[in-house]
Amino acid sequence: MSFHATILTLYPEMFPGHLGLSLAGRAIARGDASIEAVNIRDFATDKHRSVDDTPAGGGAGMVLKPDVLAGAIDAVSPEGDPRPRLLMSPRGKPLTQARVRELADGPGAVIVCGRFEGVDQRVIEARNLEEISIGDYVLSGGEPAALILLDAVIRVLPGVMGNAASGAHESFETGMLEHPHYTRPQVFEGREIPAVLTSGNHKAVDAWREAESLKLTRERRPDLLSGDDGQVEK
Ligand code: SAH
Repeated sequence: MSFHATILTLYPEMFPGHLGLSLAGRAIARGDASIEAVNIRDFATDKHRSVDDTPAGGGAGMVLKPDVLAGAIDAVSPEGDPRPRLLMSPRGKPLTQARVRELADGPGAVIVCGRFEGVDQRVIEARNLEEISIGDYVLSGGEPAALILLDAVIRVLPGVMGNAASGAHESFETGMLEHPHYTRPQVFEGREIPAVLTSGNHKAVDAWREAESLKLTRERRPDLLSGDDGQVEK
């Protein structure tokens, strides 16, 4: 089974972007993942091809029109499409590695990228869009957020990471941040690689990594240890 993403955007030129290179690029070339960007503007219905309008109630900015967006969603994802429909949104549930794994286990996703002030609330409800945020800051559009989500999903697809084991101990997979890494030279600007790592004692290495991981997580992300990561159960 391969992962198929359809992205609804006003800037299809932004795709595949960096996903065309490196790990993701090779996954796409092999056919393990596919990415199709569709221009929302192709579904505009008036002669000016307008996709946005002024906000009801007044105020700054513009809002993506529900009829145009719904038309685009229905065209790329007709009834029976098993893929979840996501809307990149700063108001969404924060993206987690657990959700990334779930998406990677599925058939793909339809991803709506907002622009301007966002999208009309009624299309979110009527088309059952799951709002996902990539962090507590505001981007000018959903495209970079979609690229980030897809980057995280594609790298965990079966066969994408060279060494299958390399994913398992990474940050968040274990509920903790990962331990520090070192490589040659043995001494860099007077700093040595911790001796245990070159001792050849695998048990001691594992214990050191586990302890460092715990220490880092305590210092930087105590929320991960308390299980209170601000997430609401899905
Ligand atoms: N007025 C909105 C922000 C709109 S930003 C608000 O205050 O909530 C324009 C678009 O960028 C959004 O529709 C969304 O698709 C995208 N976007 C901005 N920040 C994002 C984030 N942190 N995560 C995911 N998408 C984001």
